[in-house]
Amino acid sequence: MDKRLLLVFGLIFAWQSLPAGGDATLTQWSTIDALLKGQYDGVTTLGEVKKSGDFGLGTLDGLDGEMLLLDGKIYQVDSRGAVHEPANEVRTPLAVVTFFAQDLDFTVPAGLTLEELQARIDAVLPSPNRFYAVRVTGRFAQVRTRSVPRQIKPYLPLAEVVKTQAMFTLTDTTGTLVGFRCPAFVKSLNVPGYHLHYLTDDKHGGGHVLGLVTGEGVRVAVEVIRNFMVKLPDSAAFDALDLSGDRSMELKKVESERK
Ligand SMILES: [Zn+2]
Repeated sequence: MDKRLLLVFGLIFAWQSLPAGGDATLTQWSTIDALLKGQYDGVTTLGEVKKSGDFGLGTLDGLDGEMLLLDGKIYQVDSRGAVHEPANEVRTPLAVVTFFAQDLDFTVPAGLTLEELQARIDAVLPSPNRFYAVRVTGRFAQVRTRSVPRQIKPYLPLAEVVKTQAMFTLTDTTGTLVGFRCPAFVKSLNVPGYHLHYLTDDKHGGGHVLGLVTGEGVRVAVEVIRNFMVKLPDSAAFDALDLSGDRSMELKKVESERK
């Protein structure tokens, strides 16, 4: 057979053998719109969250910083940028988790911005209509993160709170980006597109990722997810929220860097 034809068949085979997404499930507690509306009271415990995953992100009771779950351990990056390991009894108002099992794995060059890194990942994903757990490890020339200060009642909407967010620039660190890429149709429940949190290997810094520049030896691992489980809070506060309407513009302002 013609060598070029073999190559074409090879490429078709490689494309078709992309992972089907096994039986992984993304489990989340509450909804992003409830958080936008200021529903910051915990709806479950971190101990309970860990039963549904070893990898993920969220926040803590009272919107007390950025949370991430990595290798089965939960970390809190508080509004001073300090990293803690909260106890299993601590509650969370929003958590998104899965058991991470890598389906795709590739390296990316140094010098990529967050947008360029996301484009590289998009290019290898089988479809924008599935969920993906994304774990990126290596050296980062820069990671710009934020965290939010613990709130007291009456709670303000998230768009108001992020005006007081603390921002950090972490220069030349090694660490892990932990997060998800969700399909566009998930809006109002979760964040469409990428939502990433960062933790340095020395556990001295991290937070919700606003921007970055990759360094040497950055490796991307992706898990394809087709099951999506939403656990609605069993609370009068949640039941009383007006969750009609479209909050996508508000969400964009809250999640990304103001330009
Ligand atoms: Zn976040």
